[in-house]
Amino acid sequence: MSNISDESTSVESLLSNVKVVLVGTTHPGNIGSVARAMKTMGIMDLVLAGPQTEINDKSYALASGARDVLENVTIVDTLQEAVADCGLVIGSSARSRTLPWPMLEPRGCGEKLLSELPNYPVAVVFGRENSGLSNDELQLCQFHVCIPANPNYSSLNLAMAVQTICYEIRMAALSNTVTPVQETYPHSAKLESFYAHLEQTLLKIGFIAKAHPGQVMTKLRRLYNRARPEDVELNILRGILTSTQQSIKEESQDKADDKS
Ligand code: SAH
Repeated sequence: MSNISDESTSVESLLSNVKVVLVGTTHPGNIGSVARAMKTMGIMDLVLAGPQTEINDKSYALASGARDVLENVTIVDTLQEAVADCGLVIGSSARSRTLPWPMLEPRGCGEKLLSELPNYPVAVVFGRENSGLSNDELQLCQFHVCIPANPNYSSLNLAMAVQTICYEIRMAALSNTVTPVQETYPHSAKLESFYAHLEQTLLKIGFIAKAHPGQVMTKLRRLYNRARPEDVELNILRGILTSTQQSIKEESQDKADDKS
């Protein structure tokens, strides 16, 4: 018996852990074209974060045989919700930003996603047709991927960008040479609650002024993102923050007792 169907089943089941997230999409036709681009590469899980349009006849017409991707779409309000359960989030962006972030090329992006997707869901995120992803949205991603297009005209149509990245993910899956990582990284919701806890603590100890927060949190995000704490390491960092807050509370309680 040929093992081709076994192989293809295992590629398809591996790829079931990949989410394609579209943020703030405005054209219904693009959503349909994205569905088609995904399905041809064996990726079925489409999430729309804060779409600015409905899925309509135009979407179905362009999806062609990928109607099922549209029928099973998940719609949420924000990117944060879309990637909450993902251990790896990669943002696709044509432009380099003021604050450099770890960058991947499409091939490396496919390999990176593949090395982690046995462990948890992974996401690749695409921006709005007219303005891409905001800085806050890009900061929710561990890596950015840029398709090295013509520098004089580097902005691909949304569905074409999805096609290029999904192709590389599929190639990585078919190559059968990507080794799964051993580490367990926290999912996005856990990371975000760490950043909220960190910011709250820094405000409390007066390191960040509420009126002028500046770039501290962005730079700290970049630092932790570079170090990429594992699940157990993040638990230690959370523990330090909890102890810090506890000790501030006790100190202010002592001061209040001294006064009375
Ligand atoms: N005008 C927008 C580009 C929008 S294209 C801007 O200046 O950012 C829509 C989306 O397609 C982008 O947000 C990005 O996710 C993806 N995309 C387009 N071209 C890309 C490229 N060269 N590399 C990576 N992603 C790209």
